[in-house]
Amino acid sequence: MKNIAVIGAGTMGNGIAHTFAQFGFPVLLIDVSAEALERGLSTIGKNLDRQVAKGQLSEADKAATLANIRTSTQFDQQLADRDLVVEAASERFEIKADVFRKLDQFCKPECVLASNTSSISISRIAAVTGRPDKVIGMHFMNPVPVMKLVEIINGYSTSAETSNAVHQLSLQLSKVPVVVNDYPGFVANKILMPMINEAIITLHEGVAGVEEIDTVMKLGMAHPMGPLQLADFIGLDICLSILRVLQDGFGNPKYAPSPLLVNMVTAGHLGVKSKVGFYDYSHGTKDLIPAARFRKA
Ligand code: NAD
Repeated sequence: MKNIAVIGAGTMGNGIAHTFAQFGFPVLLIDVSAEALERGLSTIGKNLDRQVAKGQLSEADKAATLANIRTSTQFDQQLADRDLVVEAASERFEIKADVFRKLDQFCKPECVLASNTSSISISRIAAVTGRPDKVIGMHFMNPVPVMKLVEIINGYSTSAETSNAVHQLSLQLSKVPVVVNDYPGFVANKILMPMINEAIITLHEGVAGVEEIDTVMKLGMAHPMGPLQLADFIGLDICLSILRVLQDGFGNPKYAPSPLLVNMVTAGHLGVKSKVGFYDYSHGTKDLIPAARFRKA
C-alpha cells in the first residue's frame, strides 16, 4: 500500500493525514468543506512545528511531510490510484454510508476502505459497498501523531488478507496495531465508556466531587488523566452517543447513561469544546465548579 486518501480533515483526519505523510506516504485529503481543509492543513503545520521544536523532526522532514499532502473537496477520479482510504468524517451512519458508496464507486476494486469510527459497526458500513471483504476499522487515537495504538477492527466479512495488510501498514507508521472483532464499542470504548459513566454516576450520587474522583483514578490507578477530565476532553455528546450504541447493541441496562450526563449534553455543557463540562474552561484554565451543581436533588 502506497497511495493513501483520508476523508475528513477534522481533529482525527488531519492527524491521520499528518502521520501517513510523515512516514512518506502520498496523501489525498478530502473534506466537503474547503474551510475544514484549510484549518486541517494549518493544524498539521503547527503540529509539525512542535515536532521540529522538540527535535523529533528536521525542517526538511517538515517540508517533505507537507509536500506529501494534497487536498480536494471532490470525490472523483483522483481516488482511482489510491491503495487505502481512511475515512474520518463525522460520526453519523448516514454520512459514512454516503462516503463509502462514493469510495466504492471511484476506488479501484483492490483498494482497501477503512473507517476511523469510534462506535459504528464496521460490518454495517461494509454492507453498503460491493467489497465487504476489503472494509475494515482503523481506529486511531487522539492526538494521532502522538498516540501509539491503532485498534484494527475486523468486520464480519473482512478478509484475513485485508486485516494483515492493514496490520503491516500500521507497523510502518511506527504504531502498535491490536486486532479486535466488530462488536459495539470494539475494545477501547466498550471498557472506557462504562468507566467514564461510572465516574459520572459516582459524582451524581454524591460519593465524591469532581476533583476527588479524578485524583483517585489518576494517583490510584496511574491514569494520566481522571475520567471526568477525559470525558470533557472527548466531548460529553460523544460519550453519550457511544454509551447509547453500547446500550442498544448489547441490550444491557448496565450501559444506560447517567441522567446527569444526559442533562449536561441537553444543556450544551459538552466539555472543553463548549468551555464547560465537569470543569470550567471559560477563563483559559481548568477551574472547579461547585459540587452541588452535579448532585442529585
Ligand atoms: P470532526 O468533527 O473534527 O471532523 C469531521 C470532518 O468530517 C469535518 O471536517 C467535516 O467537514 C468532515 N465531513 C463531514 N461529512 C463529510 C463528507 N461527507 N465527506 C468528507 N468530509 C466530511 O470529527 P473527528 O473528531 O475528527 O472525528 C472523525 C471520526 O473519527 C469520527 O468517526 C469519530 O468517531 C472518530 N474518532 C474521533 C476521536 C476523537 O477523539 N475526536 C477519536 C477516535 C475516533
